[in-house]
Amino acid sequence: MYDSHNVFAKILRGEIPCSTVYEDSYALAFYDISPAAPTHIILIPKGAYSDAADFSARASETEIIGFSRAIAHITHTQSITDFRLISNCGPRAGQTVAHYHVHILAGKDMGPLLAQ
Ligand code: AMP
Repeated sequence: MYDSHNVFAKILRGEIPCSTVYEDSYALAFYDISPAAPTHIILIPKGAYSDAADFSARASETEIIGFSRAIAHITHTQSITDFRLISNCGPRAGQTVAHYHVHILAGKDMGPLLAQ
């Protein structure tokens, strides 16, 4: 199910560079290459999970807690107060990279949840 050829798997293996914001045993965060907001950070688990549903179903409690705690570390150290978390799950939801990731978006008024 998980395809290790995706770009975030390549970043985790060190095959392509990223602009790291935060890293620990469970998670890696880096700046999005095509930012949709003044602050646009991608947070990924280090484990091989294809999307939010896969991570929720198969990740260990330790991985889930570690990943969730990374959000607090990142927003605190980056002094991000108001932010939006987005995780696209599946192509119809807009997922283009098949390694679970959360977008952390901040630095502007976000407006409504979905574009009309
Ligand atoms: P999604 O469309 O929800 O799967 O999000 C994928 C995100 O990955 C997009 O916002 C892309 O701009 C971003 N992205 C793709 N390649 C890279 C890369 N090499 N480094 C950082 N961000 C990337």
